[in-house]
Amino acid sequence: MASKVLVIGGGISGIKAATDLGHMGAETFLVERSAILGGVFGKLGKTFPYNTNAVDILNEYIQILENLDNVSIHTQTHIKSIIQENNTFKVTLVPGDITVEVEALIIATGFEPFDASKIPKYGYGIYKNVITSLDFLEIIGNNQNIIRPSDQKKPSSITFIQCIGSRDKKTNEYCSSFCCTYAVHIANRIKNIDPSIAITILYMDMRTFSNYEFLYQEARASGVKFIRGKPSVVREELETGNLIVEVENTISREFLQHKTDMIILSIGAEPARESYELAQTLGLKTDDKSGYLLVNGEDDVSAIGQRRIFVIGNASGPKDTQYSLAQASAAAMQVLIEINKSISKK
Ligand SMILES: Cc1cc2nc3c(=O)[nH]c(=O)nc-3n(C[C@H](O)[C@H](O)[C@H](O)COP(=O)(O)OP(=O)(O)OC[C@H]3O[C@@H](n4cnc5c(N)ncnc54)[C@H](O)[C@@H]3O)c2cc1C
Ligand code: SF4
Repeated sequence: MASKVLVIGGGISGIKAATDLGHMGAETFLVERSAILGGVFGKLGKTFPYNTNAVDILNEYIQILENLDNVSIHTQTHIKSIIQENNTFKVTLVPGDITVEVEALIIATGFEPFDASKIPKYGYGIYKNVITSLDFLEIIGNNQNIIRPSDQKKPSSITFIQCIGSRDKKTNEYCSSFCCTYAVHIANRIKNIDPSIAITILYMDMRTFSNYEFLYQEARASGVKFIRGKPSVVREELETGNLIVEVENTISREFLQHKTDMIILSIGAEPARESYELAQTLGLKTDDKSGYLLVNGEDDVSAIGQRRIFVIGNASGPKDTQYSLAQASAAAMQVLIEINKSISKK
């Protein structure tokens, strides 16, 4: 009899886990609360590291999923209840009150992009030309539009402010890990479309981890300016809609009134509220400091797999897509190992 697994969350992590489980013959249920699969990844357009179009990648995966008879996709579906009895989970889905019985759960409920209006001193939601990275990705779209919201004209200068909602005692103390890399990647995209646009990145530390340093080098080579400093405030020039950023360059010790046509706030990630609610239902532990779910629902690594609940992708902390995909594949494999171990014990 095929193993049965339920994957909660149809972002790129949940999609990858469901695809691998499907390929390995497991009867797989993929549950997504919204109308479409893809999560945040679906909104990114051309992604780092290699400029691949997120929608193309998603479409490929969705086509594979749709061709797998042993995978069922439930969009616009919520978990009503989960009852665990030994190694079986009875999960009721709404609408329809459908109950499925599975032998393992994979939680892929992702993250919430940080709400930049929680830091009013940078003017998000107050000044039209202060937008977030996600807003900018929506503007640039596939048509490569670079316009600023107040007058729909091309800006001659764009400034990024890093660490929005991250590495700060007032918001979240952890590093969101992907926002330095996406900032240099977006800066490179802008420079490729129009090299005349002056770009400045205001940063605390540049953390293009793993093998993404080349994106930073590319940005430097194309003339992107990096200033180390955390702005104290952003003001708007009423007549023009231009912005003035007050910032101390912590390398040269100069106080700057940095003028720019437009600001992109590099927002970080926060734990999703629904993940926390799931953790409560399932008795899973969350990390004391960040609030994210622990990968195995436990802080004791010897408990790996015992509960048959695995947390993958950004539900367990901010990570880029490559890392999320690797974790999804590992969890899909581990789930089947755990199920098969108990079958062979019988
Ligand atoms: C501005 C920005 C740019 C980025 N650019 C890149 C890039 O270029 N390259 C890159 O590798 N990474 C990039 N990232 C990171 C990337 O977005 C994440 O790695 C990726 O989205 C993680 O996918 P996920 O499936 O783990 O989570 P998510 O994308 O958050 O997906 C989670 C899914 O679960 C669903 N869900 C949540 N709760 C429930 C529930 N209770 N029941 C059912 N469904 C539920 C959600 O609706 C969502 O569809 C960027 C991030 C940001 C913010
Ligand atoms: S990745 Fe960069 S911008 Fe994001 S929190 Fe870490 S240091 Fe700040």
